[in-house]
Amino acid sequence: MQEKLDKLPQLAAEKKNENKKYFQILKKRTPKNLDVVVHTIHNRVFEYTDCLACGNCCRTTSPIFTDKDIRRIAKHLRIKEHEFISQYLERDEDSFWVLQEIPCAFLGDDNYCFIYDVRPKACDEYPHTNRRKFIQLADLTIKNTEICPAVYDIVEELKKELKIQVGRKERS
Ligand code: SF4
Ligand code: SF4
Repeated sequence: MQEKLDKLPQLAAEKKNENKKYFQILKKRTPKNLDVVVHTIHNRVFEYTDCLACGNCCRTTSPIFTDKDIRRIAKHLRIKEHEFISQYLERDEDSFWVLQEIPCAFLGDDNYCFIYDVRPKACDEYPHTNRRKFIQLADLTIKNTEICPAVYDIVEELKKELKIQVGRKERS
Protein backbone atom coordinates (compact mmCIF):
# COMPACT_ATOMS: atom_id res chain seq x y z
CA MET A 1 0.00 0.00 0.00
CA GLN A 2 2.79 2.45 0.91
CA GLU A 3 4.29 2.10 -2.57
CA LYS A 4 0.89 2.89 -4.07
CA LEU A 5 0.47 5.91 -1.78
CA ASP A 6 3.93 7.20 -2.68
CA LYS A 7 3.10 7.09 -6.37
CA LEU A 8 -0.44 8.44 -6.04
CA PRO A 9 0.21 12.23 -6.25
CA GLN A 10 2.21 11.76 -9.45
CA LEU A 11 -0.30 9.33 -10.99
CA ALA A 12 -3.25 11.57 -10.12
CA ALA A 13 -1.47 14.63 -11.54
CA GLU A 14 -0.83 12.78 -14.80
CA LYS A 15 -4.52 11.86 -15.11
CA LYS A 16 -5.96 15.18 -13.94
CA ASN A 17 -6.68 16.74 -17.34
CA GLU A 18 -7.98 13.48 -18.77
CA ASN A 19 -10.27 13.07 -15.76
CA LYS A 20 -11.52 16.66 -16.01
CA LYS A 21 -12.44 16.17 -19.67
CA TYR A 22 -14.05 12.82 -18.95
CA PHE A 23 -16.25 14.23 -16.21
CA GLN A 24 -17.16 17.24 -18.33
CA ILE A 25 -18.58 14.85 -20.92
CA LEU A 26 -20.19 12.72 -18.24
CA LYS A 27 -21.91 15.77 -16.74
CA LYS A 28 -23.46 16.61 -20.11
CA ARG A 29 -24.35 13.04 -20.98
CA THR A 30 -24.99 11.38 -17.66
CA PRO A 31 -26.19 7.81 -18.14
CA LYS A 32 -29.31 7.03 -16.09
CA ASN A 33 -27.55 4.11 -14.44
CA LEU A 34 -24.39 6.02 -13.52
CA ASP A 35 -24.89 5.60 -9.76
CA VAL A 36 -25.38 1.84 -10.16
CA VAL A 37 -22.24 1.56 -12.31
CA VAL A 38 -20.12 3.64 -9.89
CA HIS A 39 -21.43 1.85 -6.80
CA THR A 40 -20.65 -1.52 -8.36
CA ILE A 41 -17.09 -0.39 -9.13
CA HIS A 42 -16.80 1.10 -5.63
CA ASN A 43 -17.72 -2.25 -4.07
CA ARG A 44 -15.30 -4.08 -6.35
CA VAL A 45 -12.39 -1.73 -5.56
CA PHE A 46 -13.04 -1.79 -1.81
CA GLU A 47 -12.95 -5.57 -1.86
CA TYR A 48 -9.18 -5.33 -2.38
CA THR A 49 -8.53 -1.94 -0.75
CA ASP A 50 -7.59 -2.16 2.92
CA CYS A 51 -8.25 1.18 4.61
CA LEU A 52 -6.40 -0.02 7.70
CA ALA A 53 -3.26 -0.40 5.61
CA CYS A 54 -3.75 3.11 4.24
CA GLY A 55 -5.26 5.83 6.45
CA ASN A 56 -4.19 8.49 3.97
CA CYS A 57 -7.45 10.46 4.18
CA CYS A 58 -7.16 10.75 7.97
CA ARG A 59 -3.47 11.57 7.74
CA THR A 60 -3.59 14.26 5.06
CA THR A 61 -7.01 15.96 5.11
CA SER A 62 -9.58 17.11 7.62
CA PRO A 63 -13.24 16.20 7.59
CA ILE A 64 -15.83 18.89 8.18
CA PHE A 65 -17.42 18.64 11.63
CA THR A 66 -21.11 19.54 11.73
CA ASP A 67 -22.78 20.77 14.93
CA LYS A 68 -24.36 17.33 15.23
CA ASP A 69 -20.94 15.66 14.89
CA ILE A 70 -19.50 17.96 17.57
CA ARG A 71 -22.37 17.23 19.97
CA ARG A 72 -22.07 13.47 19.45
CA ILE A 73 -18.28 13.30 19.73
CA ALA A 74 -18.06 15.63 22.74
CA LYS A 75 -20.69 13.51 24.51
CA HIS A 76 -18.71 10.36 23.69
CA LEU A 77 -15.51 11.95 25.03
CA ARG A 78 -17.41 13.24 28.09
CA ILE A 79 -16.28 16.79 27.57
CA LYS A 80 -18.22 19.99 26.85
CA GLU A 81 -18.75 20.92 23.20
CA HIS A 82 -16.78 24.15 23.63
CA GLU A 83 -13.90 22.16 25.14
CA PHE A 84 -13.90 19.78 22.20
CA ILE A 85 -13.90 22.72 19.80
CA SER A 86 -11.08 24.59 21.52
CA GLN A 87 -8.98 21.45 21.83
CA TYR A 88 -9.37 20.05 18.32
CA LEU A 89 -11.13 22.36 15.88
CA GLU A 90 -10.82 25.63 14.01
CA ARG A 91 -12.84 27.42 11.34
CA ASP A 92 -11.66 27.08 7.74
CA GLU A 93 -11.95 29.83 5.10
CA ASP A 94 -15.58 28.83 4.49
CA SER A 95 -16.35 28.92 8.22
CA PHE A 96 -16.67 25.15 8.50
CA TRP A 97 -15.28 23.43 11.58
CA VAL A 98 -12.19 21.41 10.65
CA LEU A 99 -9.29 19.85 12.53
CA GLN A 100 -6.64 22.17 13.93
CA GLU A 101 -4.00 19.63 13.02
CA ILE A 102 -3.50 16.77 10.64
CA PRO A 103 -2.95 13.83 10.90
CA CYS A 104 -6.21 13.61 12.80
CA ALA A 105 -5.72 13.35 16.57
CA PHE A 106 -8.11 10.40 16.64
CA LEU A 107 -6.08 8.28 14.24
CA GLY A 108 -4.12 5.48 15.87
CA ASP A 109 -0.73 4.20 14.70
CA ASP A 110 -2.55 1.12 13.47
CA ASN A 111 -4.87 3.37 11.38
CA TYR A 112 -7.84 2.60 13.62
CA CYS A 113 -10.04 5.57 14.49
CA PHE A 114 -10.43 6.07 18.27
CA ILE A 115 -13.89 7.52 17.77
CA TYR A 116 -14.99 5.26 14.91
CA ASP A 117 -18.53 4.68 16.20
CA VAL A 118 -19.19 8.40 16.56
CA ARG A 119 -16.90 9.73 13.82
CA PRO A 120 -18.00 12.74 11.73
CA LYS A 121 -20.51 12.08 8.96
CA ALA A 122 -17.88 13.26 6.45
CA CYS A 123 -15.57 10.46 7.60
CA ASP A 124 -18.36 7.92 7.42
CA GLU A 125 -19.19 8.96 3.86
CA TYR A 126 -15.61 9.31 2.59
CA PRO A 127 -14.62 8.83 -0.23
CA HIS A 128 -18.21 9.50 -1.38
CA THR A 129 -18.07 7.12 -4.34
CA ASN A 130 -21.06 5.14 -3.07
CA ARG A 131 -23.31 8.15 -2.57
CA ARG A 132 -26.38 8.93 -4.66
CA LYS A 133 -26.10 11.53 -7.45
CA PHE A 134 -22.42 10.74 -7.92
CA ILE A 135 -22.19 13.14 -10.85
CA GLN A 136 -22.67 16.10 -8.49
CA LEU A 137 -19.46 15.02 -6.75
CA ALA A 138 -17.35 14.89 -9.92
CA ASP A 139 -14.97 17.72 -8.96
CA LEU A 140 -14.50 16.36 -5.46
CA THR A 141 -13.86 12.90 -6.89
CA ILE A 142 -11.12 14.22 -9.19
CA LYS A 143 -9.53 15.92 -6.17
CA ASN A 144 -9.81 12.73 -4.14
CA THR A 145 -7.81 10.75 -6.73
CA GLU A 146 -4.80 12.58 -5.23
CA ILE A 147 -5.60 11.35 -1.71
CA CYS A 148 -7.39 8.05 -1.93
CA PRO A 149 -5.93 5.13 -3.90
CA ALA A 150 -9.40 3.56 -4.07
CA VAL A 151 -10.87 6.67 -5.71
CA TYR A 152 -8.02 6.69 -8.21
CA ASP A 153 -8.84 3.08 -9.15
CA ILE A 154 -12.60 3.72 -9.21
CA VAL A 155 -12.17 6.58 -11.70
CA GLU A 156 -9.84 4.50 -13.87
CA GLU A 157 -12.35 1.62 -13.85
CA LEU A 158 -15.22 3.98 -14.59
CA LYS A 159 -13.43 5.40 -17.63
CA LYS A 160 -12.90 1.88 -18.96
CA GLU A 161 -16.46 0.81 -18.26
CA LEU A 162 -18.33 3.84 -19.57
CA LYS A 163 -15.93 4.70 -22.39
CA ILE A 164 -18.08 3.40 -25.24
CA GLN A 165 -21.33 4.75 -23.84
CA VAL A 166 -19.99 8.28 -23.40
CA GLY A 167 -18.25 8.25 -26.80
CA ARG A 168 -21.39 7.07 -28.58
CA LYS A 169 -23.58 9.73 -27.05
CA GLU A 170 -21.05 12.43 -27.94
CA ARG A 171 -21.27 11.66 -31.64
CA SER A 172 -25.07 11.54 -31.78
S1 SF4 B 1 -12.26 11.14 13.07
FE1 SF4 B 1 -11.49 9.09 12.68
S2 SF4 B 1 -12.15 8.61 10.59
FE2 SF4 B 1 -12.30 10.84 10.86
S3 SF4 B 1 -10.34 11.73 10.15
FE3 SF4 B 1 -10.16 11.35 12.36
S4 SF4 B 1 -9.28 9.29 12.51
FE4 SF4 B 1 -10.09 9.51 10.45
S1 SF4 C 1 -10.87 5.82 2.20
FE1 SF4 C 1 -9.19 5.90 0.72
S2 SF4 C 1 -7.64 7.27 1.59
FE2 SF4 C 1 -9.04 6.69 3.23
S3 SF4 C 1 -8.07 4.94 4.20
FE3 SF4 C 1 -9.51 4.11 2.69
S4 SF4 C 1 -8.29 3.84 0.82
FE4 SF4 C 1 -7.12 5.18 2.19
